[in-house]
Amino acid sequence: MMTEHGAWLPTECPVASDEEIDRVAEFLARGRVLVLTGAGCSTESGIPDYRGPITRLRPRTPLTWQAFADDLELRRRYWARSFVGWSSFRDARPCAAHRALVALESASIVQMLLTQNVDGLHERAGHQAHLELHGSLWRATCPDCGHVIERNELQEILARRNPEWARCGRRALMAPDGDADVDGGGLTDFALAPCPSCGGDRLKPGVVMFGESVPHAVREASLAALSDCAGLLVVGSSLSVYSGFRYVQRAAQQRIPACLVNIGLPVRGGELFSLRVDGRAGDVLVRAARRVGAIDSLDIGHHRVGHARYPSNTRAPG
Ligand SMILES: [Zn+2]
Repeated sequence: MMTEHGAWLPTECPVASDEEIDRVAEFLARGRVLVLTGAGCSTESGIPDYRGPITRLRPRTPLTWQAFADDLELRRRYWARSFVGWSSFRDARPCAAHRALVALESASIVQMLLTQNVDGLHERAGHQAHLELHGSLWRATCPDCGHVIERNELQEILARRNPEWARCGRRALMAPDGDADVDGGGLTDFALAPCPSCGGDRLKPGVVMFGESVPHAVREASLAALSDCAGLLVVGSSLSVYSGFRYVQRAAQQRIPACLVNIGLPVRGGELFSLRVDGRAGDVLVRAARRVGAIDSLDIGHHRVGHARYPSNTRAPG
């Protein structure tokens, strides 16, 4: 199982120069920053992304809502894999990037955070003002009656209904949506959990699937936050999904300067950013947060940042 920190990062990460960090710090120092985070913010927590430098080499087909809703066998396979993958997803810990953003919020520099991630790691890190644009895997919902159930509670129900699955400890490779690639067949034997409220068999993960829209209230609140900010900081997103790209477009329309921190990928709309920094989120954010005085010690990334703590196959900041 690939949960070791940095396991989903390329072996050679670009490292931002001190001059680039200075420019990010200047951007932050103006305050009233809105942050938009994507999967690249969580890869250092061991959660893979869909389009990062490593995972794009082994593309998966994202699950669409329509297929999920219509196909009982597909739902069995989904929940079987989700059941197996849940423990490693649940146990992922916030990384240096999440904690640096919390520090920037505490320093009244970041005033709101929007995330495309569904892992709940910003909340776990202690971030206060944030919106989950694509929902969260920490809950499941019933599309038929609207019932919401905590994912941990659902896991217990699924374990009771599938005792042999709970015992056998299948091997699984975690996927970005908390799904897992499970070895072997027999997935369609998996017993679904009925909705505790209406008894239906269409419980879905509490996330916006492909083919669904970001809830209206969330979209409105996020666009209001954008209008109210002085700068947009995009962290770890390739912006290939329109729901994220729209904020960069809007920022440009409203003449709000935008800064991108991402591991060097061709990013859509790159020309809309006044500043682009090629590097891993944790490293860039911690160094920039330190530069603006939001972090006053090395404590924040105790196990993940700093010269000697990078995995041995990556290049430490020079
Ligand atoms: Zn229901």
